[in-house]
Amino acid sequence: MRSTGSWYDVRDRRDGHLWQCRLKGKFKIKDLKVTNPIAVGDHVVFDVEDKTENTGIILDILPRENYLIRQSVHKTAHAHLLAANVDQAILVVTLFFPRTSLGFIDRFLVTAESFRIPAVLVFNKQDLLSEDMLDFQQELMELYESLGYRCLVTTAVTNEGLDQVRALLEGKVSVLSGHSGVGKSSLINAITPTLDLRTKEVSTFANKGVHTTTFAEMFELGPDTYLVDSPGIKELGLAETDPSEISHYFPEMRDLLNQCRYHNCLHINEPGCAVKEAVQEGTIAMSRFDSYLSMVGGQDNRR
Ligand code: GDP
Ligand code: ZN
Repeated sequence: MRSTGSWYDVRDRRDGHLWQCRLKGKFKIKDLKVTNPIAVGDHVVFDVEDKTENTGIILDILPRENYLIRQSVHKTAHAHLLAANVDQAILVVTLFFPRTSLGFIDRFLVTAESFRIPAVLVFNKQDLLSEDMLDFQQELMELYESLGYRCLVTTAVTNEGLDQVRALLEGKVSVLSGHSGVGKSSLINAITPTLDLRTKEVSTFANKGVHTTTFAEMFELGPDTYLVDSPGIKELGLAETDPSEISHYFPEMRDLLNQCRYHNCLHINEPGCAVKEAVQEGTIAMSRFDSYLSMVGGQDNRR
């Protein structure tokens, strides 16, 4: 449920009791090159160490359904494990104040695809949109729905669309991303008034008299309903991906890939490219192709 350096809050699935656990000895990290062996959302096997002190020892990590990692700025250094076993990644988008760019949306969707996590778009701040912006948003929603991404509209300040967001979250482990100021905390606070995300974000907890900063945390919004909050998760960048793999994370390109003349086609200016043909015919949206090109070209361009 929470990691604070070498301590982990582990929730007993049988009774919901929280135990403060450490890892047993030197833990072997299989395959993954990451700095931290366990992340929020991990399912573990643990032993009670001291019942009165509420402490335990983590013995094993169960196989992960999926996981999110953040690449280190220095490409040679190990990545950081942000969360495991995530059911969905939700991006809160505002077309105005602040404006979320299409490049940012597409980068998020590609990241979610690369981690095999279903993605949902929540368009917030409907109250601030002009007629033209609403039309544009409608087009965007039709585009993304056609690609298989669910889209919701909300206005956190008037509670519009909150029931749908509540239903979306129910029974799932979710990650909530989006630029600062788009209304992530407002949405969650409106849905779960007892939980004050903003104050929780800077919370610390005492363990054996030592105050430790929280690295990552999972909030319980309701029965079996969790929201992951890890630093760095709100602006999910693209995991280090081979340029030749990026088109696999565009659902509208995936099926065309074996129709390109060259099997290693990057769909930039190769002859006989089925993807470029689809762009010219209008079956692949120009904005999506632009995003693709910016991702293949310069992966440091995060917005
Ligand atoms: P976060 O950084 O994504 O957590 O964004 P916040 O929830 O802190 O919201 C940023 C600002 O936008 C706050 O002043 C909110 O009151 C405001 N806000 C959030 N949702 C809406 C909305 O739907 N409409 C309007 N007009 N303002 C909103
Ligand atoms: Zn091609």
